Amino acid sequence: MDIDLGPEAARFRQSMREWIAGNAPDGLATLTDWNVTGMTGGNPVNAEAERSPLYAEWERRLRAANLICAWWPEKFGGRGLTPVQHAIFTEELSRAGLPYVRRGFGEAMVGPSIMAHGTPEQQEYFLPRIISAEDVYCQGFSEPNHGSDLAGVQTKAVLDGDELVITGQKVWTSAWYRANMIFILCRTDPDAPKHRGLSYVLVPFLDNNILARPLKQMTGAAEFGEEFFDGARAPLFNVIGGLNNGWRVAMTTLGFERGGGVSTAYLRYEKQFWDLVELARKVGRERDPVVRQELAWAYSHVQIMRFTGLRALARLASGQEPGPEASTTKLFWSEYERRLGEIAADLLGAEGMIRPAGDGYPISPWQEVFLASRAGTIYSGTSEIQRNIIAERALGLPRAGSAS
Ligand SMILES: Cc1cc2nc3c(=O)[nH]c(=O)nc-3n(C[C@H](O)[C@H](O)[C@H](O)COP(=O)(O)OP(=O)(O)OC[C@H]3O[C@@H](n4cnc5c(N)ncnc54)[C@H](O)[C@@H]3O)c2cc1C
Repeated sequence: MDIDLGPEAARFRQSMREWIAGNAPDGLATLTDWNVTGMTGGNPVNAEAERSPLYAEWERRLRAANLICAWWPEKFGGRGLTPVQHAIFTEELSRAGLPYVRRGFGEAMVGPSIMAHGTPEQQEYFLPRIISAEDVYCQGFSEPNHGSDLAGVQTKAVLDGDELVITGQKVWTSAWYRANMIFILCRTDPDAPKHRGLSYVLVPFLDNNILARPLKQMTGAAEFGEEFFDGARAPLFNVIGGLNNGWRVAMTTLGFERGGGVSTAYLRYEKQFWDLVELARKVGRERDPVVRQELAWAYSHVQIMRFTGLRALARLASGQEPGPEASTTKLFWSEYERRLGEIAADLLGAEGMIRPAGDGYPISPWQEVFLASRAGTIYSGTSEIQRNIIAERALGLPRAGSAS
């Protein structure tokens, strides 16, 4: 079913389609399946393709057209696309089989948080560096004993002149190996109540007394790492939102992390669904009623994601802030994908238990879905935490653990 977003949106779609057709380097779309993004660990095939000169040229052209961070306001180097326009742009990239360029956590999470809480001087300094990829960020929120309980972080920073000196440990840091900056939540007032003594700091990641080590996952990839801060330094200028006011900024960041791309997330699952149908055919089970039931379940879930995305888009288009749908969406796609991985593993049968030949610990794409989708129900807030948020903030139920 096609959804009519009106003549203005249709014109915009046509202009983007033409721009893409005129600017995508020949051969980029067929280099790899860009619509299959890695869930954790990135997709090794795509990572290789990103090193191609075609990709570099694509990135250069997008940048020249202000289409990196296209939804950022023009004054910050974006193209000022509305939520609807941005969704259309993303759909058109997906339709053309082309990559959406994002280098780290700056574009979707740190940048918007600086726009919301940074000073004009911080915006002027940090935002262009994200667009140019001079600064590529990773996210240093979690600690060994503080994941869900984020406000309990123990990494501390003390003032030394006009710098903060940071000690502590962060963990589960995705794509740390690409980053030259890490944004952290750290304790700057140990005597304040736990949410109030925190600061949100942009810390130079390299040559700054930070020891970073890879952590290997069950998929065989070592996509995330742990970092030991032993006197790392960051200028006070790098504190966003003011000292001891980091919790508010962190909540903005998490809102963008959980709600980001809500209107276009279904694109990836739609493609994945048809791949699953293909798998059912390949193993000769496409007429099996139980398998058909599972496929129908998966298809209807993808459509629910699509319509939920449109609802979120309508909300944004009418100028409203993202609501608790950030949590419902995150809960829905992550639980869906985990179940989908189980369906795929069932279709694979015994083959699913054998890893492909090769060095290291190679796994097939469906094994990756089965294993890595488990992580989706943990990162960006676990499913239990999302349910708590929905219960307390959306449905107004009593807080978890409260007596009545
Ligand atoms: C693939 C992946 C990538 C990640 N990338 C990053 C990253 O880049 N940066 C970063 O900072 N972190 C990252 N994380 C860490 C992630 O944010 C944490 O793992 C997550 O917040 C959970 O914290 P935890 O692991 O400490 O588990 P815990 O908080 O110890 O939770 C353990 C279990 O207890 C449950 N639980 C905890 N509290 C409650 C409660 N109040 N009510 C009900 N149940 C509860 C949880 O749901 C979970 O099942 C990543 C994690 C994964 C898996």
